Amino acid sequence: MESRNPIEVSIALNRIMSFVKKQGVIKHVPIEQSYQRFVAEDIVADHDVPPFNRSPYDGYAIHASDTVDASIEEPIEIKVIGEIGAGSVFNQSVEAGQAIRIMTGAAIPGDCDAIIMLEQVKRNETKDTIFISQKVNKKENVSFQGEDTKKGETLVKKGTYITPGIIALLATFGYKTVPVIIQPKVGIIATGSELLEIDQPMEPGKIRNSNTTMLEAQIKRAGGEPFNLGQFSDDLALCFEQVKGALGKVDFLLTTGGVSVGDYDYLPEIYKMLGAEVLFNKVSMRPGSVTTVAEVGGKLLFGLSGNPSSCFVGFEIFTKPVIRHYLLADKVYPKSVAVYLGQDFAIPNKFDRFIRSKVIYNQGSISVVPSGLDKSNAVTSLAKADALTVLPGNEVGYKAGALVNALLLDDQEGTGDFLNDDEGVDCQ
Ligand code: AMP
Ligand code: MG
Repeated sequence: MESRNPIEVSIALNRIMSFVKKQGVIKHVPIEQSYQRFVAEDIVADHDVPPFNRSPYDGYAIHASDTVDASIEEPIEIKVIGEIGAGSVFNQSVEAGQAIRIMTGAAIPGDCDAIIMLEQVKRNETKDTIFISQKVNKKENVSFQGEDTKKGETLVKKGTYITPGIIALLATFGYKTVPVIIQPKVGIIATGSELLEIDQPMEPGKIRNSNTTMLEAQIKRAGGEPFNLGQFSDDLALCFEQVKGALGKVDFLLTTGGVSVGDYDYLPEIYKMLGAEVLFNKVSMRPGSVTTVAEVGGKLLFGLSGNPSSCFVGFEIFTKPVIRHYLLADKVYPKSVAVYLGQDFAIPNKFDRFIRSKVIYNQGSISVVPSGLDKSNAVTSLAKADALTVLPGNEVGYKAGALVNALLLDDQEGTGDFLNDDEGVDCQ
């Protein structure tokens, strides 16, 4: 039997990242389809926001100097000479002693220097005047031109994940179509003669293939485009042809199962037949220690374990950063936060552990607890996990209350350093 030497997670990641090249092929998509894509160019403000001084309230545009002596006892009376609706402009001058009715969002006439809110004045409809009984300061209640952003400012850097907020910016600057980076095509092949399709009834000795669809969703969350390439046949020569054929169609290829050293674990043999360079085939982590990554003709093959949790964790740690790098993101690694461990992990383990966890927010304190059964074949703990708690290998285990890192699964911002390790993993 082949012997395997485990390597550290950060070393394994370094080996992978030294192979990935930035891609960043641009495509334009309608803004409505840009959510969750990665923007391909820096977004620079081509005008000030707001583009003109505008009123944040319904009220009256006035000259602040008119109100210097205003008081409850002696309100001052000011003539209202017109009205400005949102989207309109008032082109005549507004003299001292005059005001103009203004709606939220409307441009403030150049002569006026303050807004008083509608509810702060009394209006005399017949005389078309208002009574102001307080002093209003110059520049009060004005949304100033450029206070949000100035023309020429870089607002979003290329490689940023597009959120609803970023879509608001894109719309503000007239991006009817948005330059986004083409998603990497990520193929998935499942292996295992025990696997049933999702719609097949249960049979003795068989289980349904849950990894393919799980990985499809993980690929989408990471920003890639998944391709389900089906299941391996039981015949080695055919499997080889399947992998070879698949490699031509995708940017990265994932396989699940078949990377162990069992009789039907064909992947190691297939790597040999392909002439692939195996970057590593054992990592000192749990779950996912048999995760194997190989490279052939500039393409990476991720041999993920068949165990659902191992497969899941292997993807999040090793494949997601590669997809993010392809999408030009600066911060390709999962964001980690320091949190308290909610319960003991007394069992020592020399491998680093990534425990599927639930983050608990409790009045300002954040802790993590396992989201279910902590075994690599568990599926239910995946369904409830929103983080992976990282427990570096040690001799004694961990006590509740220890400060540990948790990787946030749904985070889309990421971080530039894997587990905040400055000396750790670098991208090329
Ligand atoms: P393997 O990595 O092929 O040795 O598989 C490890 C374990 O994961 C076995 O118990 C398999 O039955 C299970 N497994 C393999 N592939 C899948 C899959 N696609 N979906 C769910 N479980 C799987
Ligand atoms: Mg198998």
